[in-house]
Amino acid sequence: MVRGTPKVRESSRPKVTIPGLKKGTLRIIPVGGCEEVGRNMTIYEYEDDIVILDMGLQFPEENMPGIDYIVPNIRYLKGKEKNIRGVVFSHGHLDHIGAAPLLLQQLGYPPIISRPLTLAMIKDRQEDFQKGTAKNLKLMTVKGMNDRIKLGAFTIGFFQVEHSIMDSIGTIIESPEGTILHPGDWTMEREADDTTHVHYDHLKDVKRPSVLMLESLGSIKEGRHQTHHELYETLHEVMSKAPGRIIIATFSSQVERVKWVIQAAKDLHKKVALDGYSMKKNIEIAKELGYVKPAKGRLIDVHKTDDYPDNKVVVVCTGAQGEENAVLNRITSGRHRSLQLRKSDTVIFSSSVIPGNERTIQKLKDNIYRQSDNVIHGDLMDVHVSGHGTRRDIKDMLDQVKPDYYMPVYANHFFLKEAEKLAIDHGFPADKVMVPDNGHVIELSKGKMKTLKEKVPTDYVFVDGLGVTDSQHIVLRDRQALAEDGMIVIIATLQSHAGKLIQNPDIISRGFVFLKDNKKLIEDIRHRVKKMVHESDPKNWTDTDSIRNDIRDKIGQFVFTKTGKRPMVLPVIIEV
Ligand SMILES: [Zn+2]
Repeated sequence: MVRGTPKVRESSRPKVTIPGLKKGTLRIIPVGGCEEVGRNMTIYEYEDDIVILDMGLQFPEENMPGIDYIVPNIRYLKGKEKNIRGVVFSHGHLDHIGAAPLLLQQLGYPPIISRPLTLAMIKDRQEDFQKGTAKNLKLMTVKGMNDRIKLGAFTIGFFQVEHSIMDSIGTIIESPEGTILHPGDWTMEREADDTTHVHYDHLKDVKRPSVLMLESLGSIKEGRHQTHHELYETLHEVMSKAPGRIIIATFSSQVERVKWVIQAAKDLHKKVALDGYSMKKNIEIAKELGYVKPAKGRLIDVHKTDDYPDNKVVVVCTGAQGEENAVLNRITSGRHRSLQLRKSDTVIFSSSVIPGNERTIQKLKDNIYRQSDNVIHGDLMDVHVSGHGTRRDIKDMLDQVKPDYYMPVYANHFFLKEAEKLAIDHGFPADKVMVPDNGHVIELSKGKMKTLKEKVPTDYVFVDGLGVTDSQHIVLRDRQALAEDGMIVIIATLQSHAGKLIQNPDIISRGFVFLKDNKKLIEDIRHRVKKMVHESDPKNWTDTDSIRNDIRDKIGQFVFTKTGKRPMVLPVIIEV
């Protein structure tokens, strides 16, 4: 928790200069996604050519009041926009495409490359972000896994991966100095007899040296996941046994899981109501592309669910991470227009928690358990367990791809370290494993890989209702201070050039102390303000800033010694 008046401003941060890129060197810069689940983005640079993989967003954590989401920091690319040959998107989950509208706009709309569903989802978000901007997108559709796309010095290829959304692809980024293999998010589906469906052996034949950048969210998960088929069967069973309505909360981009729900609902003669703006949009897109084909009348309006018997109703909604204004939270807290929880409801939600959201989700869960007798969590709808390679899968991947270098990415640091340990225990040479931080500059030249000591800027770039900036640390600190200790407003009316207060200063407090119970403290503050004005030199009064700062600092200090709290002090000087 930051207390007191922030002294550090963004602009005063020391500027780090990254050494120029030498000829014949491939640079790999993960600007996000290596210290968190979210804001995935990696820059690949070779001489005058840049290729980017993914532009994801990160959801705000509990200590970031009022922030909508966080996007990767692209300061490194300032001045290099013209070198960007293309941006490849691995799949349509928000931690991979969510920042695209904003960043593509800032970077002058370089071509974007992906499979149809992913491109359609980006296009839709772009238009949502700013009306009329989707037409600026330069879309390049990956039609098949054998497509090859030349982007400057890079040649981009693709490979099949399994993940919990349709159209996920792995990317092969070939440069003159070596080849990056990046499956995006991936898993290996295994039957009970351990056979897998997708093989990666062919990736050992790429141009060497090869670097496997491997998403590692499953690096502490033992065993095997349920197969798609088994997961579907479980979902079907839960849905068939539910005594009343079924409410399923998941991520809006879980298109494939929603498709299953619709399929099971068809079997069980139930109706499905989708709720949550982005959820409805995504399914609409998937419908247009033919990925989801609900029969006429299967989908119903969420406000019409009461027209059907309870056991015929399935609601699929957003809010599995406890997001304040998402549908599940609104239903649970009684703020939903047409849905209130009932005892007989079955609530299914993705129980895996994005690190940082633990408390919020726990509160939500408790609240749901008070209202409904049937709460189901587990891997059923779980994007973060079932969609990601386990320890087993990571070992198999390494064995099949046989990369020269291994770089665990796309998760919090501890997952990456666990993946590193796993690889070394499995026999992978320790000096060929590299766990990057956000902003690390990794260079590959003449078969050797090294990390520069300088890092590119990766500080949070916050987006909220008011706009985008990376100097919102100050705004955020203010919000934290307000949340912690409240505020005091001191209104002093001065007679210009006379050195006099016209009346007693007004004191207003919010979230600090209850004024009526603290008359003495308030009187003391008033007295001090009067004294300060009285003693200050009227000559300086043309500059009310100085008297304002003076009041803020001294009263702030005084309140702190009296109460141990540091409310935000806002002096308002009115001159008459
Ligand atoms: Zn994903």
